[in-house]
Amino acid sequence: MSMNNGEIIENHIRLESVDSLESNSQSDRKSLLPRNCSFYNMGTQSEAKVLVIYTGGTIGMTRNANNVLGPQSNVLIQNIRKYPHMHDEEYARSRFGKAVGFGPLVLPFVQDELRRIIYTIIEYDPLLDSSNMSIKDWVQIAEDIKESYEFYDGFLILHGTDTLSYTASVLSFMLENLGKTVIITGSQIPIFETRTDGKDNFTNGLILAGNYVIPEVCVLFNNKLLRGNRTIKSSTEDLDAFHSPNYMPLAKIGITLQIDYRLIHRPCTVAKFQVHCQLNENVGLLRLFPSISAATIRAFFQPPMQGVVLQTFGSGNIPSNRKDLIEELKKANERGIIIVNCTQCTSGSVCEIYEAGQVLCDAGVISGFDMTPEAALTKLSYVLGKDEWNLDTKKQMIESNLRGELTSTQPLKLDDFGLIDAVARSLQLSSPKEVSELGETLFPAMINSSVLSGNTNKIDMLKGHGANLSMVNHDRRTALHIACCEGNEKMVKHLLAYGVSVHIRDRHDRTALMEAISTDNHDIIKTLVKCGAHMTGSSRALGDNLCAAAARGQLKRLTSYRLAGVNLSQKDFSGRSALHLACLHGHLECVQYLLKNGIDKNSVDHLNLTPYDYASKSGQIDIMNLLIEHGIQPSTDNNIG
Ligand code: ASP
Repeated sequence: MSMNNGEIIENHIRLESVDSLESNSQSDRKSLLPRNCSFYNMGTQSEAKVLVIYTGGTIGMTRNANNVLGPQSNVLIQNIRKYPHMHDEEYARSRFGKAVGFGPLVLPFVQDELRRIIYTIIEYDPLLDSSNMSIKDWVQIAEDIKESYEFYDGFLILHGTDTLSYTASVLSFMLENLGKTVIITGSQIPIFETRTDGKDNFTNGLILAGNYVIPEVCVLFNNKLLRGNRTIKSSTEDLDAFHSPNYMPLAKIGITLQIDYRLIHRPCTVAKFQVHCQLNENVGLLRLFPSISAATIRAFFQPPMQGVVLQTFGSGNIPSNRKDLIEELKKANERGIIIVNCTQCTSGSVCEIYEAGQVLCDAGVISGFDMTPEAALTKLSYVLGKDEWNLDTKKQMIESNLRGELTSTQPLKLDDFGLIDAVARSLQLSSPKEVSELGETLFPAMINSSVLSGNTNKIDMLKGHGANLSMVNHDRRTALHIACCEGNEKMVKHLLAYGVSVHIRDRHDRTALMEAISTDNHDIIKTLVKCGAHMTGSSRALGDNLCAAAARGQLKRLTSYRLAGVNLSQKDFSGRSALHLACLHGHLECVQYLLKNGIDKNSVDHLNLTPYDYASKSGQIDIMNLLIEHGIQPSTDNNIG
């Protein structure tokens, strides 16, 4: 399953129709790949990029002669191109200059949304009914997200509904320190049919994945955005097919999008996004029933079983008068099998309020609290796949809240909007809409002023009052943008520890990392990068910036770019690298720095001139000597002196 960078798409999935691929050159074909789409803000409206991973499911199925639904390759993308409500051909043509029927797709303009969504669909081969999916397919999705992570703002996975909750749950664990929005959706009626629910699910998924940073694996269905690992498929017939019985929807989609940021789970560790693909398949789900035999239990717990989700009655009970059952569970626990107690009820949690539940605890069974069976099973598979954890740590992890999948204690009591309510009362505002608008206005201002004054206690206090610290102000700037501009490392770390996103782009497409670069605060840059921040935007524009820094002899700035992960050999619009400019303007230190950091010494600009030519033409003898020491062979007409 291992694959090379940049080759994933070609090796494992089909892009567009085979015809169109064959009739295009290799470079055209490559231009569909994610890493080639790094441009923002090229038109009047800013843009966001979404990668759509189409795995199969009803959403893209067609009916055969017997009216039976099945997936068919190359049908979805070609049809979407023809739907004017899903693809703006005119914008695509003026933007990408591609022939009709090729290149990235563009969602038509959406009122009130900041960014135009540009999306690329990659289609799996074969397309799957989700009932046929396995661990291998989960790993494939996770790896595709990993390979494309830095090239997209968000990800939308099109999936069959039958096992969608399993995939959502397992991905929530596999995608560690996730900082971007991942949404899984599908439909009950294929997108090609008039009454489809797929179109709304698809377009709303694109808008949310592209325009909002919700760093979770979510399920979008029937105008609700749900935490993926809290979902269950609850109906085979209703369009409202998914529920998250123990957790409120993260967002509701009506005339407007209403996201409840307070419900969003944010990774609070300063660590980069990574995927954990080692899953243990020796796990199982056992649903108890009255009179289940000890032999059944014994058979179920035979090797190679390593982890079992025991679905018990009510609030976590088994028949306490069945010593034979309890004995089997005890023995399994002693053999090192992790047994997790989850309820058979759709909503609510297991808790030891009855003797019938207490015996399980005594037998070494651990609590799954209010986890869905899908979440508990996939979490077991994930935790058992962590070789670096011993058995005790694994058990401890199962009982801990890793991705918002369980509620083990009373949720932290927020003082809700108490503070805002008080202000609202004094302003005689009463409707919930007015109060929430007041919150949206006041909180960013209060957070910003606390950041400016460097007061981390005030930040804690505002958080306690229910403020969303990732909230954006009118210019779409977060507290993190400001803390980076201020160069306040302590505050940056404080905000990151609260899970404030490093990926939010302001009105001018600037991220917190760009602010840290513009103040050359190297410690902050390192911290942000550790947290998964990366550069976005046009590579040519980056080349321009590098050249400008080199022309001015700004060694610190060049260092900032290097620490931010920028390739220092990146060229400007005239094909010049930072080395050309450092040579031209005689900045010896910068030349030394660039050479030390592996810049391409022999690159030529659009006039076919090398950095050495630049040094020579401007008479920079020291630099010419330095370049020669580094193995540059001067051409005869460019000799020193
Ligand atoms: N059997 C289909 C699947 O899960 C059902 C669906 O997509 O709704 O792939």
